[in-house]
Amino acid sequence: ESRSLAASLHEIVKLLESVCAEHEDELGRLDAVAGDGDHGQGMVLGSRGAVEAGREALNRGAGARTLLVHAGTAWAESAGGTSGALWGSALTAAGRALSDDASADAAAGVEALLNAVEAVQRLGGAKLGDKTMVDAAAPFAAELQARFEGGADLPSALTSAAGVATRAAAETAELRARLGRSRVLGDKSLGTPDPGATSFALLMEALAEHLKK
Ligand code: ADP
Ligand code: MG
Ligand code: MG
Repeated sequence: ESRSLAASLHEIVKLLESVCAEHEDELGRLDAVAGDGDHGQGMVLGSRGAVEAGREALNRGAGARTLLVHAGTAWAESAGGTSGALWGSALTAAGRALSDDASADAAAGVEALLNAVEAVQRLGGAKLGDKTMVDAAAPFAAELQARFEGGADLPSALTSAAGVATRAAAETAELRARLGRSRVLGDKSLGTPDPGATSFALLMEALAEHLKK
């Protein structure tokens, strides 16, 4: 039933917020190495805005699609910064894969996640190897799709995809940042994983764990 799907999605948005809060300092430290140090703060502000907008939408009786579209818009507005715009568009794109008045099955859940990653790639324009969130998100999406098409259920496919994201995020330490940062700062980032790839992996691990329950 659509109302309860919206409520479940709101629980997921709250989960994302709690993971962002838990890792705020760590993400800030990663971003301070070659960036401006605000990634933890941006993720906390964005996800908190999404929770508030999601709650208001739920109180008005919104369905799944409307809830995620509003949560995404609020994430982008509340966070400021590059990653906020990207996460906002990700939530909004996930919502657009769903409808307000039908219940979603596992295939719709996969579709929503793939839409979200596509939106990040489209809006940000980053290529693999640029040392961004895409270096975790693209292999995550490929693994999710392959496992699901191979017959895995959503929790198993997502667990496998989150593992791929975590390994890919760690491997970004070997890359030099190229996008939105000077070459000098890019060199400084060598040896440190990308903050946006790291937060993406943390959030997808938490989501996978949540869906197993
Ligand atoms: P800002 O760079 O505006 O301070 P954040 O610190 O919150 O924003 O986010 C930085 C992260 O955003 C980077 O670590 C990277 O993963 C991600 N990012 C930056 N630009 C892009 C892009 N064009 N595409 C995908 N991700 C990006
Ligand atoms: Mg930053
Ligand atoms: Mg900033």
